[in-house]
Amino acid sequence: MTRPRKPRRVEFPPLATFLKPRGVPLSSLDIVVMTMAECEALRLVDYEGMHHDEAACKMEVSRPTLTRILDSAHRKVADAIVNGKALRIVWGDAQILEDRYVCQTCYYTDKKLFDRCPDCGSQSVQAISSLIEA
Ligand SMILES: [Zn+2]
Repeated sequence: MTRPRKPRRVEFPPLATFLKPRGVPLSSLDIVVMTMAECEALRLVDYEGMHHDEAACKMEVSRPTLTRILDSAHRKVADAIVNGKALRIVWGDAQILEDRYVCQTCYYTDKKLFDRCPDCGSQSVQAISSLIEA
């Protein structure tokens, strides 16, 4: 029997989990599916500028595993851009470190749940983790 895989640790899930080319109906688009772990690897290395070993430590995976996750993420982003595909980010086997709450109107986020958005006054607030498909 194989050992169950440890969930990938994700600190900040993305605010948008579906990106599509403008002006193309969804029904005629191919969709690239990216896991939350791949998205987190992109965030840590390409956006935050972390070294692979530092990002691996954050996600609690080995450095070769981080590099493999990141390579896969790069291929998917490239596929979406080069071929004009939509990109969907799914939960996969990732585990969120600390949930945040997001205003559905203006994307204001906070670690604490709020009733009314301090930026735009909207009462449409959701936990980020609840917005992401399994
Ligand atoms: Zn708001």
